[in-house]
Amino acid sequence: MSRELVIGLDIGTTSVKAIVFTLTGKLIAEAEELITTNYPKPSWAEQDPKEIEQASIQALRNVVIKAKVEDDEVLTVGMSAAMHSLICLDRKMEPLSPMMIWSDKRSSQIAEKWLAENGERMYLKTGTPIHPMTPLLKLIWLKEEQAQAYLKANYFMSMKEYLIHRWFGKRVVDYSMASATGFFNVNDLKWEESALKLAGVREEQLSKIVPPTEILTGLNEDIAKQIKLSPGTPFVIGAADGQLANLGSGAIKPGEVNISVGTSGAIRQFVEGAPINSKMETFTYAFTEDISIVGGPTNNGGIAFQWLKDLIEFEGTHDELLTYANNIELGSDGILFLPYINGERAPIWDGRARGSFYGLSINHTKGHLVRAVLEGISFNLFQINQSLERIAGTAKKITVNGGLSKSKLWTQIMADIFGQNIYLSDTHHNAAWGAAWTALVGIGKVQSFTDIKASLPDEHVVEPNMENHKMYKYIFNKYQRLVESLTVFFD
Ligand code: ADP
Repeated sequence: MSRELVIGLDIGTTSVKAIVFTLTGKLIAEAEELITTNYPKPSWAEQDPKEIEQASIQALRNVVIKAKVEDDEVLTVGMSAAMHSLICLDRKMEPLSPMMIWSDKRSSQIAEKWLAENGERMYLKTGTPIHPMTPLLKLIWLKEEQAQAYLKANYFMSMKEYLIHRWFGKRVVDYSMASATGFFNVNDLKWEESALKLAGVREEQLSKIVPPTEILTGLNEDIAKQIKLSPGTPFVIGAADGQLANLGSGAIKPGEVNISVGTSGAIRQFVEGAPINSKMETFTYAFTEDISIVGGPTNNGGIAFQWLKDLIEFEGTHDELLTYANNIELGSDGILFLPYINGERAPIWDGRARGSFYGLSINHTKGHLVRAVLEGISFNLFQINQSLERIAGTAKKITVNGGLSKSKLWTQIMADIFGQNIYLSDTHHNAAWGAAWTALVGIGKVQSFTDIKASLPDEHVVEPNMENHKMYKYIFNKYQRLVESLTVFFD
């Protein structure tokens, strides 16, 4: 009997994943292909768009084979991608240099200068933080350097646009990916002329902006053959991975917050319209004409725990290291950890920020440091959530996922600090499922985005201990004051 299936293609930073789902979100098969990131100079981070295209073809082909997909069983393919990538292309759509990715910080100094001169004005139009991650700042860097790739470029695109052009011959970009550029007006959903001017870019060098439900037809026959799908299979453009991870974990209505903590982390919630936080603490990225996502990204999620593990040369597993903290009391006996080991985006937006342990004494052990790191990561997230609540309202339901959520101790600390139930829905497939669902909305197979709520993975609840919450409130106050006092030392 023939099945009805949908595929989510998730183009991430470290890998491309292709996942075959049933229409209710049951995973049938998955395939993953790793991607290389090159760091040719300190602070640069580049990838090869052709390698990512090949990885996407391979992942799709592998998953189609694994799922034993028959002709026409796949109703549609939805696409998710990491934000903020930039490729300069010539007239024939050939890349003129490697792709700069979100973590490329070469425009840091320009970003600082910009923040002072044009920052607020531009942020209020675009909702995109003035930060080296954005293609806007990358373009300004290329312009100031008079880089050949920039000077010779006929077109500028993100990875997803490039792939779509290669496979469908169209130059289109969805609202989310456009929002990630820093030169898209989140209020009128058009390219922001004043930002383009500053970057020296003309509108015709950019793609046409379309909603996430835009259907792409006419898949290149050669690509179709390689991925073993019929060339008639409709693809749907989808959105960026942040929006789709929220959608795929069911955090879609106002007040439903998704916290995702892998290597880095982010807190996001959907809101109606496009409200912008005047203090520049959060981002506001469009999703559809009516809703956008607000949130804050942190550079310091699981990486801080990983860093400690490596630093103390702990050779066991993460779980074994966590047992060291089992008998350590709340508050880590007075140690506070500021997790900014990687500079920081939200909540303080300071690339020069550095981490610290405060309150060390001769009696402290490895276990104290482990617990302090977990608490510090959580306080930082709590502080970001406070900024978010100022713009989007109170968090009514919080779902958490990502690598760190494998730790029971950490999720309990989160529930205690937030003073709320934490719902765990870790599948690692949220963005792919969000992309697949968007595709189903696009082809009209399901009615709405919110209907996804009937097709989500099981959740597990972690309840807060309100006595602990009271104590954490007191410690958080101290943490916040420490953050404020130490920022003057970042240089
Ligand atoms: P990515 O952002 O690369 O997708 P993951 O979601 O896989 O990352 O998360 C990676 C992080 O998860 C690591 O940095 C590590 O701190 C943390 N981690 C991995 N395994 C465990 C575990 N068993 N318990 C707690 N944390 C873990």
